[in-house]
Amino acid sequence: MSTRHGRSLYVMVAWPGLYLLLVEMFSRTFLGSLTKPYCRTFSITSTPAADYTHVVVGAGAVGLAIARKLAEKDGTSTLLIERHGSVGTETSSRNSEVIHAGIYYGPTSLKTELCLRGKRMLYDLCEKERIPHRNCKKWILAQNTQQHEQLDKTHRFAKSIGVPTHFISLAEARHREPDVYAENAVLESPTTGIIDSHSYMAFLESDFESKGGDLAFHTRVVAIETVSQGYSIHTTSPSGESASITTETIINSAGLAAVPLSNSILPPARHVKPYYAKGSYYSYSRGHPRPKTLIYPAPTKGAAGLGTHLTMDMTGAIRFGPDVEWVEDPNDLSVNEERLSAALDEIQSYLPSVDRDKVMLDYAGIRPKLGKGSAVASGDGDGFSDFYIKKEEGFEGFINLLGIESPGLTSSLAIADRVHGLLYQ
Ligand SMILES: Cc1cc2nc3c(=O)[nH]c(=O)nc-3n(C[C@H](O)[C@H](O)[C@H](O)COP(=O)(O)OP(=O)(O)OC[C@H]3O[C@@H](n4cnc5c(N)ncnc54)[C@H](O)[C@@H]3O)c2cc1C
Repeated sequence: MSTRHGRSLYVMVAWPGLYLLLVEMFSRTFLGSLTKPYCRTFSITSTPAADYTHVVVGAGAVGLAIARKLAEKDGTSTLLIERHGSVGTETSSRNSEVIHAGIYYGPTSLKTELCLRGKRMLYDLCEKERIPHRNCKKWILAQNTQQHEQLDKTHRFAKSIGVPTHFISLAEARHREPDVYAENAVLESPTTGIIDSHSYMAFLESDFESKGGDLAFHTRVVAIETVSQGYSIHTTSPSGESASITTETIINSAGLAAVPLSNSILPPARHVKPYYAKGSYYSYSRGHPRPKTLIYPAPTKGAAGLGTHLTMDMTGAIRFGPDVEWVEDPNDLSVNEERLSAALDEIQSYLPSVDRDKVMLDYAGIRPKLGKGSAVASGDGDGFSDFYIKKEEGFEGFINLLGIESPGLTSSLAIADRVHGLLYQ
């Protein structure tokens, strides 16, 4: 394992029996001379101190935000472990980069609570740190009376949780976005925006390191076991080298791999099944039409996504997506040509002048889900799944984050506060 600060603790042993002993001795001695001093915060026993106070597994937007928050805690040390060579190369860089308003997730869910709080925190941070973002607003369109009722419901719910939304007249809609077609109604969400997720993660990474945190790239967590100091984490590098490290607390923020990691620690009765919902995106290579507002179809009851919508990046380039395709393999990121025609029909329903020949397959992201239910909480047995962010009972200092799908990017700073609260309040 090599941390960004130049520390390395590669341990290669041929005999598994000797392995743990050697690794324990080597890593403790080696790290002892390298890490900054810190106070232990959990143990009141006389067992030796762990190498780190906190280990966060996974350097996506959420893991980075958590690690940065924990690194602020005086007298502690934090290590962030990532299997790839840079931050945010999985789901955190394969999404719509939308700062969500928080109007889809029901009155009592963690998704609502953390999205509302995270949205405010994210806008504030972006302003303060000059992270590229734009409060470009979003429209949700109704093409028939049934969808209009759906928008009425969304509007009432938004009001009940204090999130502003308002209907705009069809004439105003035509004036502001002449290329966008809505037959029945347009609901505007003025607090929705977009963010450059790469700049955001680059900021989190450098801020984490400036707070004294350590980052280990090319380091895959392969096993975790409980030991007297807390947890012993076993890792491998791409060239097959093994290492081990101890920590008082462990935060599982491994995204698509979080459920398998959790199942490897918790007893079988507490195992959960992961579901993977791939979403494909389509780029658009023509300059026209080019709306400036995010355009979403009305949500379809029971659907696992929000419909093939129109978003844009900070350069104004528009893209369409994501759709929903259930896959078994969390590495299956191929964009399926066969889905293009259905996506084009959906896009053309709200953007009639789109040039179908200029819509190209782009990239895909996979939502780590805990079920196949609806992305929108309707309160009537729709199978909506909330974020799972828990301190695991019987596993002191183990915080588990499962099903961190949308709106995880928006919620990331608030999730970090919550994890900090679970550990220290
Ligand atoms: C199609 C799509 C669209 C989305 N759109 C939006 C949106 O517009 N707005 C929004 O707010 N949210 C959106 N989301 C959700 C958002 O992208 C995620 O919630 C967020 O990126 C999750 O971040 P993360 O850090 O939890 O996971 P990830 O980004 O997946 O990071 C997990 C990291 O853990 C690492 N890892 C895994 N296992 C190990 C291991 N054993 N050892 C070491 N490292 C490991 C991985 O390499 C990875 O880098 C969308 C998601 C998808 C799929």
